[in-house]
Amino acid sequence: MSRRLLISGNWKMNLDHLQAIHLVQDLGLRLTAADVAGLDVTVHPPFTDLRSVQSVVEERRIPVELGAQDCAPDDAGAFTGEVSPVMLARLHVAYVIAGHSERRRLFGETDEVVAAKLRAIVRNGMTPICCVGETADERDAGATRERLVAQVSSAAGALAPEQVGSMAIAYEPVWAIGTGSAATPEDAQEACAWVREAVGDVAGADAATTVRVLYGGSVTADNTAELVAMPDVDGVLVGGASLEATAFAAIIRSANGVG
Ligand code: PEP
Repeated sequence: MSRRLLISGNWKMNLDHLQAIHLVQDLGLRLTAADVAGLDVTVHPPFTDLRSVQSVVEERRIPVELGAQDCAPDDAGAFTGEVSPVMLARLHVAYVIAGHSERRRLFGETDEVVAAKLRAIVRNGMTPICCVGETADERDAGATRERLVAQVSSAAGALAPEQVGSMAIAYEPVWAIGTGSAATPEDAQEACAWVREAVGDVAGADAATTVRVLYGGSVTADNTAELVAMPDVDGVLVGGASLEATAFAAIIRSANGVG
């Protein structure tokens, strides 16, 4: 089965709204219809930039969809500082990252919190990109598969099988994020296949066939093509290289085989 590639740019806590407008306009000037034909592209600016980026993307018909980096598990209420998934959906946010390793590591997000966020994202009609991945210590201890199965089982168990089948899961080895040291395509394939297998065990064969499994961690235009050529790698989640229009456009073209 051929799954539509998903190329996602996570801007993290970078770029104010003016810089964000500039970046997405620049991206729009660089991307042709052919560059994005047959794949999905998302950008995930900081919350304070979303409205500005949404306006520019819609006015200029830039061929990217809007993403958020996180959201609250609740729709509304006394949760000072949180960002409601209802409000994200109103801004035409289509994809929301949940469980990024920075949120798990720096902000104490557990699998249970991530599961609640996944339910909130889906409840509001958006598509989750759920991040999973092992640390360097877990990898060295030979515990990568076990870690992935635990994270994926919790995530997939939070949703109905058909919802699992239409979400994305990003395999992001923590040791590869922001280090310049990406997993090899073979290692990424092995881990993404474990992710898919774990989805199948929890949500069934149909969900395993359609769920999109991305690779993330030091992706550049130089390693994208060989990563997405792997049978179980259905796209890439890009951090640093998505902050520069030339680099992100090159990744998109490379994924699409036109670079
Ligand atoms: C990320 O933060 O999700 C990521 C993959 O970052 P980078 O591409 O910079 O390694």
